[in-house]
Amino acid sequence: MTESIRTQVGIIGGGPSGLLLSQLLHLWGIDSVVLEKHSRDYVLGRIRAGVLEHSFAELMREAQVGARMDREGQIHEGFFIAHGGVRHRIDLEKLTGGKTVMVYGQTELTRDLYEARDRLGGLVIENAADVRPHDVETAHPYISYRQGDETLRVDCDFVVGCDGYHGVSRQSIPKDRIQTFEKIYPFGWLGVLSRTPPVSAELIYATHERGFALCSLRSATLSRYYVQVPLTDSTDAWSDERFFDELRCRLPPEVATAMITGPSIEKSIAPLRSFVVEPMRYGNLFLAGDAAHIVPPTGARGLNTAASDIYYLYHALVDHYTGGDDSGLESYSSRALARVWKGQRFSWWMTKLLHRFPDDSAYDQSLQHTELDYLFSSERALASLAENYVGLPF
Ligand SMILES: Cc1cc2nc3c(=O)[nH]c(=O)nc-3n(C[C@H](O)[C@H](O)[C@H](O)COP(=O)(O)OP(=O)(O)OC[C@H]3O[C@@H](n4cnc5c(N)ncnc54)[C@H](O)[C@@H]3O)c2cc1C
Repeated sequence: MTESIRTQVGIIGGGPSGLLLSQLLHLWGIDSVVLEKHSRDYVLGRIRAGVLEHSFAELMREAQVGARMDREGQIHEGFFIAHGGVRHRIDLEKLTGGKTVMVYGQTELTRDLYEARDRLGGLVIENAADVRPHDVETAHPYISYRQGDETLRVDCDFVVGCDGYHGVSRQSIPKDRIQTFEKIYPFGWLGVLSRTPPVSAELIYATHERGFALCSLRSATLSRYYVQVPLTDSTDAWSDERFFDELRCRLPPEVATAMITGPSIEKSIAPLRSFVVEPMRYGNLFLAGDAAHIVPPTGARGLNTAASDIYYLYHALVDHYTGGDDSGLESYSSRALARVWKGQRFSWWMTKLLHRFPDDSAYDQSLQHTELDYLFSSERALASLAENYVGLPF
């Protein structure tokens, strides 16, 4: 070890969770260092989430990174579910007594967080290789990493693993100290980003006998479209033309006709998976965001659940450093998991409601139709959907 940095909170992972935590802690005078294995350009090149819950948007403002989101993000008061060729509008604002969601791309939000960390002199170490947490069972944990030929270390009071599903933090916990819960779905989402005006000002989730489709957007000039595909498919097999033909086929005719298409600027297949690890703490190592749990994107819970973890952990760390109160740290895992599981339930329910499962029998399919018919005929069922979509309270 040639060089050592001392900080209060060592954060592994410079995605939205790690950067947001670092920014919030900074505003309370708590020092942190973020270690990111990729370059900033790589992190900002990933096209992912786009729908922010009301409470997440509030947290961004609290972190003093909400100005561009408030200028450029779009408030959505509802969305559509298309079934049997008919669009049904879910009026979020009416059904929840005034709550809405914010459409603002994860890429933009991450860029805002990086810029805020730069402005305040926050330390985000990019291209950190072989990042590893050590001695997290003790009061003196540290993180080692490599840059070029040099091995360096960050000494800290707490390590926070914000390094996503494939990160090193969760993997460093002994297997007999955690329990994992997992569900793998037999399909993925093929997503296309195109610089075209979105076909609808509000999202359209479509269920069809050929499979699920989603018309989403990032801005007034950037559309994000998805179709359900088998896991065996690769993007090579999907020209833009084939993609848009398939998408149109799964949408109500008036939507398909109105769609303006253009060349894809990004195309990828995301497998659908649900995963939770319990507990979200091992000694002085805390897990947050995708490092501890992931959901299928149906229902837009992934990034939003990461934000609620950060909310609980940030308050717990502030209480520890400003008042010597450790009760928030003690209860972090159980509080976060209570909300995580509600997000898991909702994502599973939306996925089951809207996708075509290859092994479904005629009975399963009739139940799915009945569930949709019931939903559109019951204000109470719609209110439950809306309550979960705008986000349960932190
Ligand atoms: C293809 C895709 C589409 C998605 N679409 C949606 C959506 O539509 N709606 C939604 O709500 N959610 C969506 N999600 C989920 C959402 O993007 C995640 O929930 C969100 O990114 C979680 O943020 P995070 O910071 O916890 O993890 P991540 O964004 O994964 O960030 C983790 C960071 O840690 C870094 N890292 C990993 N390993 C190491 C290491 N060993 N050392 C140092 N750094 C490391 C990574 O490079 C990364 O920058 C999607 C996810 C994927 C993969």
